[in-house]
Amino acid sequence: MAKNLLSRKLLQPNNGKKTDPAHPAIFPTGIFPADINEREEKIYDLIAKRFMATFAEPAVRETMTIEIDCKNEAFIAKGTRTIEKGWHIFYEPYVKLEEEELPKVNKNDEVTVKKIILHSKETEPPKRYTPASIIKELERRNLGTKSTRSEIIDTLFKRGYTTGKAIEATDLGIKTVETLEKYCPKIVDEELTRHFEKEMELIMEDKRKSQDILDDARRKIEEILSDFKKHEEYIGKELLEANIETRDELSNLGKCPKCDEGELHMRKGKYGSFIACNKYPECKTTFSLPSNALIKPAQKICEKCSYPMVLAIKKGKKPMEFCINPKCPSKHVEGDAGRQAKDIAKGIIEKECPKCKEGKLVLRSSIYGKFYGCSLYPKCRYTEKLGEGPLKQDFDKKA
Ligand SMILES: [Zn+2]
Ligand SMILES: [Zn+2]
Ligand SMILES: [Zn+2]
Repeated sequence: MAKNLLSRKLLQPNNGKKTDPAHPAIFPTGIFPADINEREEKIYDLIAKRFMATFAEPAVRETMTIEIDCKNEAFIAKGTRTIEKGWHIFYEPYVKLEEEELPKVNKNDEVTVKKIILHSKETEPPKRYTPASIIKELERRNLGTKSTRSEIIDTLFKRGYTTGKAIEATDLGIKTVETLEKYCPKIVDEELTRHFEKEMELIMEDKRKSQDILDDARRKIEEILSDFKKHEEYIGKELLEANIETRDELSNLGKCPKCDEGELHMRKGKYGSFIACNKYPECKTTFSLPSNALIKPAQKICEKCSYPMVLAIKKGKKPMEFCINPKCPSKHVEGDAGRQAKDIAKGIIEKECPKCKEGKLVLRSSIYGKFYGCSLYPKCRYTEKLGEGPLKQDFDKKA
């Protein structure tokens, strides 16, 4: 395909309508990517093909409309087909255009009515936003930049203002907006954000001095902050309640399997996230959580042990479900590997850590299952698979 393009005399890319000096278009460098996974390869393919397509000729499409008069009621049939493929050739299989060819007809031809179907349809209310559609909406409203928009959405999730794939505002999110609208509406005013965004663009384009704009921004922020300070106490009080409610809702894992009275909640501590029973100190049930993934309640219980399940989410990877019970039968390792593990746990067998050659292998368990670790952890971070069970690192590597 590249040869086909290079054989042309004039190569001129088709430029989009928008310019963005901070984020120039992505193009392949000519170095073929080595050691990439399937997903990355797909994205590379898309970028490379799109790059080539920008140099190709326009495609020609033809739309035909047939008007049919049925007892003075007009019916319309529309069909579009591609006559010259142009850039489509380079952009396959990413061209998403429908080919709908209509039968050949001449003016004043008679057509027979085969069937009459009456469709009853209603207009649908708008769907909830998804991360992708909300980013589009931000762009439409001129809020944020290409690089900050997805970060803005991430922050909303991280702070518990929104939840779910079809994004829902949490009570905390709604309450935060309501409270701020009441006491310092400027903070939640789109116009202010847009204003700053525009000013920054002017700096980038060298049309205004950064110092002037910074001074202006500082004045505006001082104004807002003094407003905020004045009402700080009320704002705090109103938000605290909503915060506790929402945090409990988002972190609730269901009934505590040990005491059967309390609820298990996800908590953040000095050493990372963990799960604890809310009947503490009467019930001291806790489970540790891995720090290498974002953990969310899966709203399910384990089929094997009836403990709550969690969803481990890592960027760019498929979320995985685990039950929080390290002793769950589903994590049992059978056969020789299992027997050896028991012997090591009891101290009958000793195995030297192959990495530091100082520590001993000890049996540890996490929500991912049992594994061997070095007794000198955290100085030595060696880990080893126990039979066929998955290891934290395997999960890291999984595409
Ligand atoms: Zn409990
Ligand atoms: Zn289980
Ligand atoms: Zn070691």
